[in-house]
This record gives sequence, structure tokens and C-alpha cells, in this order.
Amino acid sequence: MEDNQNIDNIREKINNVDSEILKLLANRRKLSEDVINTKVESDKPIRDTDRETELLSSIISKGKEIGLDSHYVSKIFYDIIDDSVRLQQNHFRSSFFDNGTNVIRVAIQGIEGSYSSMAAHKFFAHFNKEIIFISKDRFDEVAEEVEAGRADFAMLPIENTTSGGINEVYDLLLHTTLSIVGEEKFQVKHCLVGTENSTIGKLEVIFAHYQAAAQCNKFLATLPDAKIQYFADTALSGKKIKEEGNSEYGAIASEEAAKLFNLKILQREIANQPENYTRFLVCSRKPQEIDSRIPTKTSLVMATAHTAGSLLSALTVFSKYDVNMEKLESRPIIGNPWEEMFYLDFAGNIKDENIQSLLDELGLHTRFLKVLGCYPAQEITKAKLDYFTGNKVNSEKSEEIKPKETEEKLVKNKKPKSYKLASRDYKPEDTIIKVNNVEIGGNNFVVIGGPCSVESHNQIFSCAKHAKESGTQILRGGCFKPRTSPYSFQGLGFDGLNELKSAGKKYDLPIITEVLAPEQVAEVALQSDILQIGARNMQNFSLLKEVGRVHRPVMLKRGMMSSVDELLNAAEYILSHGNRQVILCERGIRTFETTTRNTLDLGIIPFLKEMTHLPIIVDPSHAIGVRDKIVPLAKASKVVGAHGIMVEFHPDPPSALSDAEQALTFEQYSQMMKELYEL
Ligand code: PEP
Ligand code: MN
Repeated sequence: MEDNQNIDNIREKINNVDSEILKLLANRRKLSEDVINTKVESDKPIRDTDRETELLSSIISKGKEIGLDSHYVSKIFYDIIDDSVRLQQNHFRSSFFDNGTNVIRVAIQGIEGSYSSMAAHKFFAHFNKEIIFISKDRFDEVAEEVEAGRADFAMLPIENTTSGGINEVYDLLLHTTLSIVGEEKFQVKHCLVGTENSTIGKLEVIFAHYQAAAQCNKFLATLPDAKIQYFADTALSGKKIKEEGNSEYGAIASEEAAKLFNLKILQREIANQPENYTRFLVCSRKPQEIDSRIPTKTSLVMATAHTAGSLLSALTVFSKYDVNMEKLESRPIIGNPWEEMFYLDFAGNIKDENIQSLLDELGLHTRFLKVLGCYPAQEITKAKLDYFTGNKVNSEKSEEIKPKETEEKLVKNKKPKSYKLASRDYKPEDTIIKVNNVEIGGNNFVVIGGPCSVESHNQIFSCAKHAKESGTQILRGGCFKPRTSPYSFQGLGFDGLNELKSAGKKYDLPIITEVLAPEQVAEVALQSDILQIGARNMQNFSLLKEVGRVHRPVMLKRGMMSSVDELLNAAEYILSHGNRQVILCERGIRTFETTTRNTLDLGIIPFLKEMTHLPIIVDPSHAIGVRDKIVPLAKASKVVGAHGIMVEFHPDPPSALSDAEQALTFEQYSQMMKELYEL
């Protein structure tokens, strides 16, 4: 009785102390907020690691004086400092996360209780908003929710410290229009859970996500009688056994999921590696601008040029600009066997001039370059100190990096233009685009030949055979046709593309075909080696942005009413969205002259070659529109310095379903090839 009273007494005292601790923590937070406000006014850097180190050292020695060991004290105070640093960081970006309501809609793969949902709770904890989860089965559906505006953010797992990168998410980042605006490293603690009457020995089936099972395989091996059944995600496995209510069923799930579904924890910490973290990316529709006083990280994806050593030269750019590269991951490029995309994280803010110059220079070594996002680094570097003595460790102080005056920057300042990446100023050397073994640009002259439209299996196969025999390098064929009249033949669509692809494959010719709409791009890019943007779409900006997101070279035709300045700006749309492989095509413009279909602007070629590093192809077929007048202009194109031509031919020109008047016969075409060769 006496003892019980005593314990109650002590417990009450503990409760009181705990409340005091809580009050003190709240007070400390309040003071941190005051610090933020003064820092905002004074423009000082957010972090003061020297002060943090001093603070920790003095707290550790004070702790020692009253009998607290240094490990314990430093552990607690690291968390306290971490909290105030996050508070400061979030202060600067709270407006970004403020959607004007008191709820945040977060799309996740899986259901509430999943690790994604817990990571989201942790990430958004400081913004004091209610989270509404939008559950999806697949990662691409998660991204789609945000793209369509049905969710504010997506929470996507990108890598796990035990099982590695999550490939589907890497591939998704390449194509999505979303930006990374934050990251959350979340410690994954797997538990074996069961229902009310379960015991470990009773379990016959264990439901688990395959990654979770892989991360716990050593523990699972100790339960040889239990069968593992793979399940879509960890929280769902928990939900499943709850619903089944069978005591012989277990699941691998988090402690939180166990609580959520009222499950019994049979064993905690069953992962092979106790230090098991998953890094999540927070993605949003619009990019975030980060205050330069916050330590910032940038993620990008790139494909380097085809030349030997290009990866090395690209990476050297980072050391040239003194930028710390934190991560490099590679993924195969789907559709281009044995080629890779590289995903990089580095310390730096894209607002900084130094980083801008780095990206400009990196662009010279890449054929695809896309910034995925710029966001505060979650890894809050801990102030270094010697645990046992509490003394400061002399760490190399990173010096303030001054932006380097690069050649590119000087040029940029000299001549402001509405386009940059397309200009010779930006890139003095010719861009050479390699498609299989064909090189377009530089000193090469390539011929693209084939029918206006793919009309049938036999037609395209006989054209491909003739193209090959006459020395053509690239096979053309329209599958989606931009016709002036809606009643004219509109092309065979994807069926035509399949035929074109097989014909190209049979005769070992890369293929080019036109894309008409943004929603076709990804699918056509899987099949076609080059995508064509037709004259009528030169300023279809949503289409330009979309082809800017794929890794296939794009041939952009000059609009019939467009100046070359407009052409170069249209090319800039593609380049600035990531795709650095753009070919320009002069195909004739509308003038007051009506004798020819269009007026071929050959005079512009030498000027264009000065203005841009991009390869230039001439299309005399669509310019002249008359079969008999095409060959001399094809030859003139070569003489005037074009990097190639594109010419239409057909097995039986009068019967062609589109552009019949301008299609060369097979004989005319081989004769042209011969004459070009001799030129
Ligand atoms: C074509 O190349 O088939 C075509 C339609 O060309 P343009 O866009 O130049 O008219
Ligand atoms: Mn045509």
C-alpha cells in the first residue's frame, strides 16, 4: 500500500517534469522563431554552425557537471537544433506550401498507414495543415493526380538504403512535368504483425511487399513454416490480415500501420539492417524558388553526348565549378539499348550564377539535360564535435565560392537574345546528332527519303528497299498526317508506324515520322528514331514542350509563315525542356509567289549556320511541290551548306494518297542520289 502510494507519488512528479520539459521545448521553439524574424530582417545566413557547435559543447560540459553523459545530451540536443533549423528553413518556404486552405492534398502510392503517408506526415508536420491522402496503385497515377491538379503534392519513394533505387520512380521523373520541391528521409522500421490470437509460431502465411520481404529475408528465413505472399504495399498487407481475421496470417508492416489497423505486433525490428531508410521526394506542379540563405540541393537528369569520354567531361564540369556532387545513378534509356540516363544530385541553388554557368557548360556535353528540382537539403549537417570531451572538432571551413567568370557568361552578357541554347554563342561547335550509325550535322550530308505517307505494308517495304539500295541514310514516312482538308487521307496512325518501324528494321534504316499532338509523343518516341514537328506545328508550344521531354532527336520544320528567329525560338522551347537533339528543317515559306508550292529559302542556310550550332536539313519536296523541279534544288541545298535533305518518293507517284505531285519516281530518286554523290 505504502509502496504503491510512493510509486504514484513519483509518477506524478515525473509527469510534472515531463510537462515542464514540454513547456520548455515550446518556449525554445518560440525563441527560435524570434531568431528567424531578426534574421529575415538582417539578411544573415540561416545557419550558424559555429554557434551550434559552441552551444553543443557548452551544453555537454554543463550536462557532465550534473551527471548526464555526453552521448545522451548530444543526442537530445541534436534533435532540438535540427528542429529549429527546420523551422527556419520552412519559414522561408511556407508561402510555397500554402495553398490558401487548411488542408494539403497529397497523392501517394498505397494507402494511409503506408511509409509514404508517414513520410508525408513528417514532411508537412511544420506547416500545420490537415493532410488528405489520395491513394493510387501506381507511381505514374500518383504523378498524374498532381499534374491534373487533383492533388497538391506527390510523395514518391526514390531509394532505400538496403534495397537501392526505385527504378519506376526514376523513369517516371524523366517524363513527368512535376518538380521536386523537397525530400524526406524516413527510417523504415519493419515489424511482424498479426491479429489478436496470432503468435509467431502459428503463422502459416506472411503477407509482405516484395521490397519489405527482401529487407527482412534473414528474419523470414527463421520461420521456414510460413509461406511468404507478396502484396502491393506494407500497409495493405496489414489491412488484408485484419480483414481476414485469421490467426495464421501475419504481415510485415510498420508499427504505425499496426496501430492504424489495430493489429498485434509479434516482433519489432525484423529488418536485416536496423539502419534502414527510404528517401522520399515531394513533387509539385510548379518549381520552388529557394532563398539563397538555405542549404540547397538540385537534382537533374542527363544523357551525355555519344562521343568517347563525354561522361567524364560532363562530370569534370562539377569540379571546375567547385560544386559537390552528392549522387550519381544511372538508368537505361528505354528504346536505346545500352545507352544510359544519369541522375545527379548536387549541392547548389539554380538561382546562383555559379550554378547557372555550371548548367550552361554541362549542356555542352549532353544531349538531354533536365533540372528535376531545386529544394532545401534535408540532411542537416550536424555541427561536428568530439562526443567525449564535448570539444569542437576543427573542421575545414568551406570557403565562400565566388562565381567564376566563364566564357559563356561573358558572351551571354554581350548579346542578349530571346534564345540562348540554340545559338552559336552558347555552343560554338556544331551539334552532331547520332542516330544508330548515322551522324547528322558537322561535315556530314545525310539524305532522308521515303513516301509522304505510309500507305500499306507493301508500299513502305518497297520504299525502304529502294531507299536502302540507293544509299539513303534515314527512312521517312508520315503516319499522322496534318492535312489541309479534314476529308483527305489522315494517315494510318500507329498501325502505319508499326509497318514503318519493321521496314526500317529490315533494311537497317533509322526512321522519322511526324507527331501531331502532345499525347502521341511518348508512344511515338518508343518506336521512331526521330520525331518530326511539321511546319503547321512549329509554334505549337505544348507540343514543343512535350518533345522537349523525350530523349529522341527532333526535326523541327520551319513554319510557312515564320522567320528564322521564330524558328530558333521554337527550337529553344525543345532544348530548354531537356532535349538537346534538335535538327532544323527549311521547307519553304509562303511568299507572294504562287508558281511554286512555297518559296525555298536557300539563302538563309549560310546565315542559319552562323546563328546556330544545330544541324540543318532542307526539304525541297514540300517547297517546290512539283516532281520535275526537285532534284536541282536538292543539289543546290548541298552546295549551299545544308547538313542534308529530305525528299519524298513513291513506288507509283500518281496513286500516292498524299502529296502525289511532288513524289519522285524510284528512278528519279536513284538518279538524284547518284548526282548528289558526285557533287
Ligand atoms: C511532311 O514532311 O510530310 C510534311 C507534312 O511537311 P510540312 O510540315 O513541311 O508541310
Ligand atoms: Mn508530304
